[in-house]
Amino acid sequence: MPSVLVVEDDQFVRSALIRHLTEASHTVRSVGTALEALREVAHFRFDVVILDLGLPDLDGAEALKMLRGITDVPVIIATARDDESEIVRLLNDGADDYLTKPFSVEHLSARMAAVLRRSRAAGSEAPPPRVIQVGGLSIDPLRRQAQLDGTELDLTRREFDLLTFLAGRPGVVVPRRELLAEVWQQSYGDDQTIDVHLSWLRRKLGETAARPRYLHTLRGVGVKLQPPAAPPEQPA
Ligand code: CA
Repeated sequence: MPSVLVVEDDQFVRSALIRHLTEASHTVRSVGTALEALREVAHFRFDVVILDLGLPDLDGAEALKMLRGITDVPVIIATARDDESEIVRLLNDGADDYLTKPFSVEHLSARMAAVLRRSRAAGSEAPPPRVIQVGGLSIDPLRRQAQLDGTELDLTRREFDLLTFLAGRPGVVVPRRELLAEVWQQSYGDDQTIDVHLSWLRRKLGETAARPRYLHTLRGVGVKLQPPAAPPEQPA
């Protein structure tokens, strides 16, 4: 029984997809944001992901890139935009197929069957789960383990989520508002919440705000994670 993850924020489309896929005897889980989708694929095994491009939290291309950072699961893009150059780009970025909305259930079934056939043909031995690697940082979202230069980091759930979210988009400045929404699932809140967790995370990474290595705070803008440019300075 193939298991499917439906990533779709439109409640109506989502219910219709769930109903159809369940009737076609698929096991279905569904979420409405890209970050939830990342959590899902980190925790469960799916045979195929149906990914809506217009999600409230992340641009579709960004969501696909992050998914590809942690899993090889076949991804079918569902898009309302019939933009050929974008579709080509997404297929090059690791999408397995696409559907232009509105699509019929027959069309979806045919595409899914083809994708499932291809992924089965691609080999029964599953590739090892992807690990996010940024500099000496290595994060395994499936096992929820993180290492720095080969040493296991002892992180709380929130610290791990924060680190994984930032490491999934290295070099990108993530606004605080977005961190709050994605990691804390809050639409508003105190900047201090983020600062406190960042400072704990920094301590565990062996760095400080004044001497950052991986975590860089851009005052009034956001936070980014990037590999250190040079080895850390040794105290004299
Ligand atoms: Ca949408």
